[in-house]
Formats: sequence, C-alpha cells, structure tokens
Amino acid sequence: MNDKQVTFDDLVSLSKRRGIAFPSSDIYGGIQSTWDYGYLGTEMKRNIRELWWKNVVQKRDNVFGIEAAIITNPSVWEASGHVSNFTDPLVDCLECNGRFRADHIVDDVCPECRVKTKFTDERNFNLLFKTYVGPVEDDANIAYLRPETAQGMFVNFTNYQNTIRRKIPFGIAQIGKSFRNEITPGQFIFRTREFEQMEMEFFCAPEESKKFHEYWKKERMDWYINELQIPESKLRLRDHEKDELAHYSDATADIEFNFPWGWGELEGIAHRGDFDLSAHATGSGKKITALNIENNEHFIPHVIEPAVGVDRILFAILCASYNEEQLEDGESRILLRLPESIAPIQIAVLPLSKKDELTPIARNIVEDLRENFRVEYDETQSIGKRYRRQDEIGTPYCVTCDFDSLDDQAVTVRFRDSMEQERIKISELKNYFNLKMNTNDKKVILLHPYIIMV
Ligand code: ATP
Repeated sequence: MNDKQVTFDDLVSLSKRRGIAFPSSDIYGGIQSTWDYGYLGTEMKRNIRELWWKNVVQKRDNVFGIEAAIITNPSVWEASGHVSNFTDPLVDCLECNGRFRADHIVDDVCPECRVKTKFTDERNFNLLFKTYVGPVEDDANIAYLRPETAQGMFVNFTNYQNTIRRKIPFGIAQIGKSFRNEITPGQFIFRTREFEQMEMEFFCAPEESKKFHEYWKKERMDWYINELQIPESKLRLRDHEKDELAHYSDATADIEFNFPWGWGELEGIAHRGDFDLSAHATGSGKKITALNIENNEHFIPHVIEPAVGVDRILFAILCASYNEEQLEDGESRILLRLPESIAPIQIAVLPLSKKDELTPIARNIVEDLRENFRVEYDETQSIGKRYRRQDEIGTPYCVTCDFDSLDDQAVTVRFRDSMEQERIKISELKNYFNLKMNTNDKKVILLHPYIIMV
C-alpha cells in the first residue's frame, strides 16, 4: 500500500463533503475565513475539549476550572496592556493593495501578487474587537470581546485563593471563545477571527517558575503524542527568540506542528512572570498576592501558561490522520486514522441489505451500544460504499449484520486501518468494544503536594 502526502485542498474538500466544517453564512456568500462546524466537526471538537479537560483539570488535584465572561469591564484590557499593545504590524502591497501582517511576509515578496519590496511603511493595527455596552454608542460605553481567555483567570486569582482551599502552586483552566480582528485570517480553521481557546494559568512561587515552565513544556508535548496520538516526527518544541516575545512574556516555547505548508504554532507555553497580577494590582488598586507561610511574607506569584486553540488542534489532527491508500486490487481509499477517543463515530452498524429481517437486528445493536459509544446506523447504498464513507470520516469499527446473523446470532466487525474482519457474537459485542476501547486510565497526576487551608 502506498500513502499519499496530504494537501491543504484534500482536507478542505473532505471537510465540506462529509460535514466537518462549512463556510459560515454560506448561502449569503460567507464571511471571510469564518467556519461553521458540521455534525462531525462538532463531535470532534467536543472530544478534543474533553480530553484536554481530563488531562489538565480532572486528573490533577491542583488545577481548577473557570467560566469567565467574554465581555468584561474594559479596565481589564487597559491594565493587561491589550488596549495599547495588542497589535500586529500591518503593511499594504502598493501593487495589488493586499493587506498583510508584516511579520508573515517572507523574503519581501507579496504573498498575493508576488511582487517584491513594494510595501507601505509598517503601522500597528490593534486586534481587539470593540463593541458598546447598552444603547448609547459613545466612548464611555466601549467594551471589548476578549482576545484571550487568560485575563478571566488573573482577575479571579484572589477569589480562587479564597475558595479552593489550596495554597499555590495551583492552576485555573478555561475553555471558551476568543476574538481577534486578525489582519489576514485564513488557511482554513488555522487562523480565524472567532476561535476557541483552552488555556491554563499556573500560579507558582517565583523561584519555582523555571522548573514549572519546563514541567509544562514536557506535559503538553506528551499529551499530543500519547493522548492525541500525533506522530512525534510531526511535532517540535521551539523556544521564542527575545524579539518574538509577546508584551507580557519572559520566555515562551511553542509546540509546532508540521502543517501542509510547513511548521506552524499549535500551542504556546509562556512564562508570564508576574506581569499580569502586578498589572491588575496597579489597575484595580487591590492587593493581589500570595502568602509564604515559612517567612510570613506576601509575594506576587509567577505564572506559566499553556494556551492552545481547539480549532487548530482539530486541523492538526486532520492533517496527521489523513491518508490516501492504493489498494492491491487497483482501487484507492481515503481514510482518517483518527484515535478512537477523537473519532466522531466510533462504531458504524450496517445491515448488509435493507431487508426486513436484518434491520431490526442492526437497530437493536445500535440501541445496545449507544450508551457507551458514539454509534451510527446506516442502511443506504452498497456495503462497499458505506465502508469507504466510514473510512473517510475516521470510524475505527464497522459492525455488519448479514443473513448468517439470523442463524448464528453473530456479526462481522471490520477494522478501519487493516480492513481485517472478525466474527463476534451479538451478545458479546458490548463487552468486546468495552475491552477494545478501554478508557480505564485511572492515574491521577499528583503535580505537587499541597497544603489544605484551615
Ligand atoms: P499567532 O502568532 O499565530 O498569531 P499567537 O502567538 O498570538 O498566535 P497566542 O496568543 O499564544 O497565539 O494564542 C494561543 C493559541 O491560541 C495559539 O497557539 C493558537 O493555537 C490559538 N490561536 C491564536 N490565535 C488564533 C486564531 N486567530 N485562530 C485560531 N486559533 C488561534
């Protein structure tokens, strides 16, 4: 079997064809680089979120969830530096009038018309989306849609310290939408103006911050390899140069993925120092500190932040799992080698024909498996076409009921990757899949001993 290298167009076309993502407001001509997720994309995003939450929050005894508001008091963004500093350098091409991020232009060539060095001077463009709170559209009522979820954690640091019954080190984690008026969104769901982030702010003593930065770099890299099963060869960890650092960061490492156009950021793991808590203490006039119980002195915690986009992970997983195989009989098939935990449908139940005797058996199997697994029933088209469709959407197992099932009370289980088949008794199917997709991972990650406050 011969595997083909995935291209960008392969993925966009598969996504539209099968219901992973569609251009948003398509019937009105869409709106620049904005996407609506279809029934498969929605499931996959949900699975990614759940795996992240399980690894970052549920399995640890010192990371806690939060759901903070998207629209906040604008002072949050003034104190955080976003109103004055959250900018990208913008240039216009004098030849084609295209607008680009100056730091995305390679070798002084316009990405659109390919003419060299004919750009306006750089000017800073602020990425915050503005809106107005209430009926009056004046400066006093300006508010911003959050450009990152992180500030929700910083402004709630004291609330958490008072309620979680732990001393630092501890983390606050959030999944939610963020908004950036990107100059050049694009490359499918890689860069959009509305996207979903999964971020965790880990508060620790300043002298432990370097150690925890290293710790989180390794934890996050391991997650991609072990849980999302992304091949190690497609990932790399890259430390930022000093001139790349964001305005809040002391040091940042990116986990990069080898996308069809080359290496691109998947996740940033930033050492934010005490920048944010200090800024909010100054901005709000409130004391935001932690207590060192050994010397009874207050200090400002440092922060390590792993931050990633759900949409970007989905794109990376699609790239990593897409395959076009030449089969021995001269046919070819497209398949997504998705891990079972991400696959939008884990088991497809397919009666060989629409004949009355077979469909009730298949429907009963669906009902039986539905409680534990994501299951789909499909009786349309030939069995070969149905297998190909399930391969394309990454379904790891197909269960086929045929006329023998009426006698032997057994079905055929077909494996996506090897296309091998196995005959299993219907009464044993649930156990069989429970064992196959064993999620019996009970390990709790004890990140650091903690002290219960009394
Ligand atoms: P870039 O340099 O690509 O603009 P960034 O360094 O500004 O990204 P961060 O602020 O570190 O990005 O955001 C954390 C993560 O959020 C990124 O690693 C990425 O996965 C995701 N992300 C950021 N901007 C976007 C976007 N416009 N669309 C989709 N995902 C995004």
